[in-house]
Parts: sequence; structure tokens; C-alpha cells
Amino acid sequence: MTTYTHIRPPEGEKIAVRDGAIVTPDNPIIGFIEGDGTGPDIWRASQPVFDAAVKHCYGDARRIAWMEVYAGEKANQVCGSYFPEETLDAVREYGVAIKGPLTTPVGGGFRSLNVSLRRELDLYACVRPVRHFPGVPSPVRAPEKINMIIFRENTEDVYAGFELKAGTPDAIKLREFCEREFGWKIRPDSGLGLKPISETGSKRLIRAAIRYALRHGRKSVTFVHKGNIQKYTEGAFRRWGYELVREEFADAAVSWDDCDGEPGDKLLVKDTIADIFLQQILTRPLEFDVVATMNLNGDYASDALAAQVGGIGIAPGANINYDTGIAIFEATHGTAPKYANKDKVNPSSVLLSGVMMFEYLGWTEVAEAVTGALTRTYASKVVTYDFARLMDGATKVKCSEFGRAVIDNL
Ligand code: NAP
Repeated sequence: MTTYTHIRPPEGEKIAVRDGAIVTPDNPIIGFIEGDGTGPDIWRASQPVFDAAVKHCYGDARRIAWMEVYAGEKANQVCGSYFPEETLDAVREYGVAIKGPLTTPVGGGFRSLNVSLRRELDLYACVRPVRHFPGVPSPVRAPEKINMIIFRENTEDVYAGFELKAGTPDAIKLREFCEREFGWKIRPDSGLGLKPISETGSKRLIRAAIRYALRHGRKSVTFVHKGNIQKYTEGAFRRWGYELVREEFADAAVSWDDCDGEPGDKLLVKDTIADIFLQQILTRPLEFDVVATMNLNGDYASDALAAQVGGIGIAPGANINYDTGIAIFEATHGTAPKYANKDKVNPSSVLLSGVMMFEYLGWTEVAEAVTGALTRTYASKVVTYDFARLMDGATKVKCSEFGRAVIDNL
């Protein structure tokens, strides 16, 4: 067992992974990172909902043993570092954590803590479900048609961090190398970045998406890519995906080309170019179900989709390594610093991330209880400022009051 300096593991048991399956004890130790900015507000509103939902479903038979782990500004105060090594050790040891948003300065300072967490723990699948709840305000006419799960590759692409600043000796060296070896003409005042997309990274992400689709009886998996332009990165992602369908899922899934769009009782695997995808999620959303894509496309697509079902205040996410079982569930929005400590913002993103976490733990009754309570709360028009400003006849409540309303609706 690891010894921690600042983290205090509570009484409880570790979640285990056996034969690739999560084994959850009745009192699992689960890490939480409050987050920066509005993070503490939404965590304070959400944790009581989770505890109440567990009690509602299982009485005293089950209980979560919460363990605070540190990252961001609080980590700097408590541990003297924004990203303490023991945070990584604790998530590795206990396996499952949930977090609020963390600040990332633009154009300098330290590297994104979120990106670092995902990279260090090799959490290669960023899973973002997007669905509409009745009554939640939306800018589109039929938001109920949107019910998709995005699997976004989390460790490669332009997010890999291979970037050189314009004019630096390293950028000059790389530019000269490219010109000398490949005849590539690049303007001398360019910043440079590398976009690695590997067969290994692509296939493990696509494998996770297909397995998820099969397990949950979904209709299709769509690869979203710009392979028409970036042939050897995004185009290769598409090619490796179809290869995987034939190699590993021939009995359960079929690609569009191999079935002329008629998959029978098999899962249909197809692909679309990223720009047309962004059009079609507005014009023909019913054609998409599970989506597998690379890091940058996934980032854009999930925010665009979230906007259609109520915005980033209600968009949950998970970062998962399906091989080690390590998973961090997180609010997908940022720290919204202007609202910090105002008890104002919408905690739904963390609440729905919690729903994903309970599903992952196999506590489906709790996931359903929180989802049901949220549905009833939105339907009663008791909402935070972001929804209230778009709804007629809404009762605008604070972040913490929203949490209490959800508990009342369990
Ligand atoms: P942001 O924090 O997501 O906020 C942008 C806007 O989104 C807010 O002004 C607010 O809009 C709305 N919003 C965000 N959270 C909300 C919530 N819980 N409820 C209702 N509305 C919400 O984006 P940002 O200002 O660009 O980023 C701030 C910091 O967060 C940056 O340091 C960024 O790097 C970081 N960030 C972290 C993560 C993460 O930890 N996963 C993700 C993204 C960004 P209105 O003002 O219009 O109401």
C-alpha cells in the first residue's frame, strides 16, 4: 500500500479489476478532485446527491468512502504543487475518481492538468454521452432526436503536446530538417506541431466504442475524420477502424461497404467527414449513435452536440483506460471563474458524470435514480441561471438549491 503525505485514504475497500471486469465492493473508496473556480461549488452540490441516491437505493448496505485527492489551485495550497505525484499514485491505486474542472492558462504557464492526467494515466477513451432531457431549453427544434455517445481518442493527435514555438532554435531545426529531407516549404516564422495518430491508439479506442455499442444494443458506430485531407493520420484512423471490424468483430458488426448499408442484425460501422458530420448532427441527428473519433474532432463535436441539448452546463464525460480499469469522471466544462464561489452555476455536468460513474461501477440502480431525479427536477422547471434565462416560468435556484431539489426528487 502506498503511503501518502497529504491524501488521507478513508475506511473502505478498493475497487478491483478481474478478467477485465470492474468488481465494486459495498464501500468503495472513490477519489474526488474538487477542481478550481466553480469546481468547489458544483462538488458541494453534487456529493450529497450521490450519497443520498446510494442510500435511497441500498439503505445502509452500501456507501461510498470519498477520498479527496488534489490537483490545481487547492493542490498548490495543500501540497505545494499543482499536480502532485501522489494524486497520480492515488488514482492508480484506487482506480476510480471524479473531478471538477481545472484551470489551464492559455499560451504559457503549465501544461493543461486535464491533458496531463489523461496522458499520465493513459486514459485513452474520453466518453461523452449526449442526450436531451424533456424541458431543458435547446436552440434546435427536436433535441430529443439526439442520443449519441462520443468516444474521443484522448492521448494522441495535436493534443500530444509536440509543439515548437515560432522562431526558437528547435523550431528552426525542425523546419530545416523538413525542408532538407522532405522538400517541405514552411514559412520561417511558423510555430510547428506534430499530429501523431497510431494504429495502436486508433484501434484500442475504436475497439472500446464497438464493444460499448454491442453491449448496449446501439445501432451504429460512425468514425468521424478528415481523412480526405489528412490521409495518413485521420484517413489511417478510418482504415484501421474498418480493419478492426473485419479482424475482431466479423460475427457481430459489419462495415457499410460490406453490407450496402443493410447490416441485418449486426452493428453497422460507417464513417463520415468531420465537417459534414457537424452539419448532419443538426439536419439528420437520428443517423448517428455511437461516434468514434480523434482528439481534436472529438473536442469540437462534443461541445457542438452539447449545445443542442442544453449546453456545457449539462455535458458529462469520462476518461477511461479499459485495459487497466482506471477511470476519471469529469464535468466537461471549464472553471467559469467569473462565477466562482457564487453558488450559481449548474452542477448537472458533474451529476451526470456521477451517473456514468455509477454505471461503470455496476450500481445501475443509483445511476437510474439520479437520472430520474434530474429528469423530474428539469421538468418541474426548478433550474439554475443558465437554463432559467432560456425558459418561461422557471424557478431560478442556486447551485446548492438545485442539488437539494434533485435529492427531494429521488
Ligand atoms: P468555461 O469555464 O467552460 O466557461 C465558459 C462559459 O460556459 C461560462 O461563462 C458559462 O457561460 C458557461 N458555463 C461553464 N460552466 C457552466 C456551468 N457549470 N453551468 C452553467 N454554465 C456554465 O470556459 P472558459 O471560460 O473558456 O475556461 C475557463 C478555464 O477552464 C480555463 O482555464 C480552461 O482552460 C479551463 N477548462 C477546463 C476544463 C476541464 O477541467 N475539463 C475544460 C474546459 C476548460 P455564461 O457566462 O454564458 O453563462
